[in-house]
Amino acid sequence: MDDIGVAPPSPALADAGQARELCEAARAVPGGCRLAGQVKILDQIHESVITMDLGGYINGWNKSAETLFGYSAAEAVGRHILFLYADPESDDDSEGFRDALLEAGGRELEVRRRRKSGEIFWASLQLSLTRDESGEPVGLVGYLTDITARIEAEKSMRLQSRIFEHSEESILITDADRRILSVNPAFNRMTGYSEEDVIGRLPGLLRSARHPLHFYEELWRRVERDGGWHGEVWTRRKNGEDFPSWASISLVRNREGQICNYFSIFTDITARKAAEERIHYLAYYDSLTGLPNRALLYKLIDQALAEARRNRQHGALLFIDLNRFKPINDSLGHGVGDRLLQQVAERLRNAVRTEDVVARLGGDEFVVALFDIARRDHAAMVARKLIATLDTPFLIDGHELRVGVAIGISVYPRDGRQTETLLRMADIAMYRSKETGQDGYTFYSREMNQRAIERLRIESGLRHGIERNELLLHYQPKVDIATGRIVGAEALVRWQHPDLGLMPPDAFIPIAEESGLIARLSAWVLEAALEQTHAWSAAGLPEFKVAVNLSARDFSPDLAARLTVLLRTHAVAPHRVELEITEGMLTHSSKDVIAMMDELAALGVSLSLDDFGTGYSSLAYLKRFPIDTLKIDRSFVTGIPQDGDDCAIAGAIISMAQRLGHRVIAEGVETRAQLEFLRSLGCQEIQGHYFSPPVPVPSFEAMLKSGRRLRLH
Ligand code: C2E
Ligand code: MG
Ligand code: MG
Repeated sequence: MDDIGVAPPSPALADAGQARELCEAARAVPGGCRLAGQVKILDQIHESVITMDLGGYINGWNKSAETLFGYSAAEAVGRHILFLYADPESDDDSEGFRDALLEAGGRELEVRRRRKSGEIFWASLQLSLTRDESGEPVGLVGYLTDITARIEAEKSMRLQSRIFEHSEESILITDADRRILSVNPAFNRMTGYSEEDVIGRLPGLLRSARHPLHFYEELWRRVERDGGWHGEVWTRRKNGEDFPSWASISLVRNREGQICNYFSIFTDITARKAAEERIHYLAYYDSLTGLPNRALLYKLIDQALAEARRNRQHGALLFIDLNRFKPINDSLGHGVGDRLLQQVAERLRNAVRTEDVVARLGGDEFVVALFDIARRDHAAMVARKLIATLDTPFLIDGHELRVGVAIGISVYPRDGRQTETLLRMADIAMYRSKETGQDGYTFYSREMNQRAIERLRIESGLRHGIERNELLLHYQPKVDIATGRIVGAEALVRWQHPDLGLMPPDAFIPIAEESGLIARLSAWVLEAALEQTHAWSAAGLPEFKVAVNLSARDFSPDLAARLTVLLRTHAVAPHRVELEITEGMLTHSSKDVIAMMDELAALGVSLSLDDFGTGYSSLAYLKRFPIDTLKIDRSFVTGIPQDGDDCAIAGAIISMAQRLGHRVIAEGVETRAQLEFLRSLGCQEIQGHYFSPPVPVPSFEAMLKSGRRLRLH
C-alpha cells in the first residue's frame, strides 16, 4: 500500500458527497503522517475507493473495496483493473472513453463488476484523474457503490409498468379512500372512460343497477376482511351499457399494516358468457322447436316435486302424442314435418300459462307440466284446451294439415312422487287414450277418469241447459227478528237436469266457474231475479230486497254498467236489489275491488258479505268496503247454543257488526234455540229452515200473500 497516491477528485465531482469531503480532509493531514492518515481515512469511507495508475494497474484498495469485491488489498493491488470487470469489452475501458475522461477530468457511470465469489453486481462508478503538483495526470481514482438493489427495483418497476400498459385486462388502482389514482389503457378501452374521466373519483361509477346495493357492501366487506375478493360482477360502461366481467379486487397495506391502496383487475366476459349460454341452450333445449328437451324437463319436474312436497302443491304431467303425424311426415317430407312440429309447439305454448312447462321429448311427443294446480280436475281442463288448440288445421306449403292428439295424464302427489314414475304413468295413460282411436285424454288413475267423465257431462249438459232454460230460481226468505216479517229473499239457482233431476248449485256452480260458463249462468240468474222482482211489485206485493249471489268472476269492472241497464230494462229500483259476495273476492286485488264496490253502492244496490267468518277478513278492510250486511256463516250457527266456540264467534261477529254500523243476519237457522240465542245477542235477521227452506216461486208468493211471520213466542 506504500505507493498509494490519492489526489482529490476533480472539481467536476467535488459535490459528490462524503467520500470527497474525506479526501479533502486527507489532503489537509500534514507531512509524514500524510500517507498513513490517508489510508486510515479511506478505510472509513463507505464507498469503495480504488486508485490506479494511468495504465490501469491498481495501486490503492480500501476496506470497503475489500468488502465489496471480496479481495483483500494484498490480492488486488498490482493487478490490472480489468480483472474486476464482468464484461471485458465494456465502455469504461475503451480508448474513446479514456480520452473523454482526460478531457473532462471525470466521469460518472453505471457498470457491472464481478466479485471474488464470481457474483456479478451493478455499481455506480465515479472516475476521476489524480494529478501531480504541476497538474499532470498521474493516475485514476474510482469511487464505487453497489447499486444492484436499485437497478433491480427499477427493472421490476419497468416490467410492472409494461404489464400495466399492455395488459389485456383492465387495471384500476385507488388510494386508501378508494379514489382512483390510475387506470391502464385496457380500462379505457373496456369502459369507455378516459383517465381524466376517472382520476380522483370512486370506482362506484362503474356500478351496474343489476346488483342491489348490498351486493357491493358485501363485496367491500370481504375485501377488508379477507384482503381480496373475486367473482363475476356486472360493470357499467360510460355509455350506460352493462357487461359481465370477472373481477378481482385486492388491497395493499404498508409496513405499519394500514391500507394504502386498492387495486382491481377485471376482464369483459361477455363472449365467454354467450358461449356458456349457447352450450347450456344446446344441452337443454330442443333445437327444432326451442322448447325444453327431456333433460331440462326432468330437472324442472324434480325441482317442482321437491317444492310441491314442501308446499303441499298438486301438479300434473300431460304426455302428448300427435295422431296422424307419421303419415304426414312420410308423404310430404321432413321439411313439412319439421314445420308442423314447430307450429304444434307454438300452439301448445300459447295454450298454457307462462309458469307451465311445455317440453318436447323427441319425435311427435311433447309433455306439458302443470306445476301448481288448485284442483286435480284442472289437468282435464288444460287437456281439453290443448285438444281444442290443435283442432284447427295447420297451413304449411299450401297443405291443410290436421293432426290430433292423445293425451295421458298423471297427477302428483296422488299417482306418485318420482319424476320417472310420473312420466311413465302419463305415458301409459297416453297409450290407453290412443287405443280409443280418437282425440282425447285419459288419466292414469281410474277414479280420476270417472270424475273427469262426469264433470265433462255436467259441463256440456249445463251449456245446453242454460240455452234450453233448464235453470230455475228458488227463493228463501230472510226475516226480521224484531218484527217477524219477511224483509228479503235470496235467489238460489237450481238446475232441472233431464236425467239427473233437480241439481243443487254446489253440483254445477264450481264447474261453471272453471269452464267459463259462469258468466252466462250469472247473467241468466240476474235477469230472472230482476224479472221476478218486477213481477212481484207489479202484483202489488209488499216491498222486500231480492238478494243474488255473485261469483268471483262476476265481480268485474263492467258489473255496475250491466246492472244499470238491467235495472232499467226491468224497471226495478236499485234499493230492492242486494248482491251477496264472499270474503274471498275482497282479498284478491283490493284497490280495484274497492272501486267496483263503491260504484255499485253509488248505484243504490246493497252489498252483503256472505259466509262471513270462513275467510280471512281483516277488520281494516271491513271498514274500507261499503258493505251493508254481514251474513254469519251457517257453520257457526249450527253449533249454537251448545258449542261455546260457535257462540263466541257469533257473538263477536254481531258486536263487531254493530260497532261498524253493519246489519247482521244469521244463515242456516234451524231451531228455536238458535233463534233465541241469536236474538239475545242482538242479531237483526235470520234465514234458514226454521222459518223456511228455499222454495219455488209459487210457494214463496203464497207465503207473502198469507202474511206469514216468524213466531216470536
Ligand atoms: P249461500 O249463498 O250461502 O246460500 C245458502 C245456502 O244454505 C243455500 O244452499 C241454502 O239452501 C242453504 N240453507 C239455507 N238455510 C239452511 C238451513 O237452515 N239449513 C241448511 N242445512 N242449509 C240451509 P244452496 O241453495 O244449495 O246454495 C249453495 C250455495 O250455492 C250458495 O250458498 C251460493 O254460494 C251458491 N249459489 C246458489 N245460487 C247461486 C247463484 O245464482 N249464483 C252463484 N254464483 N252462486 C249461487
Ligand atoms: Mg248467499
Ligand atoms: Mg252463505
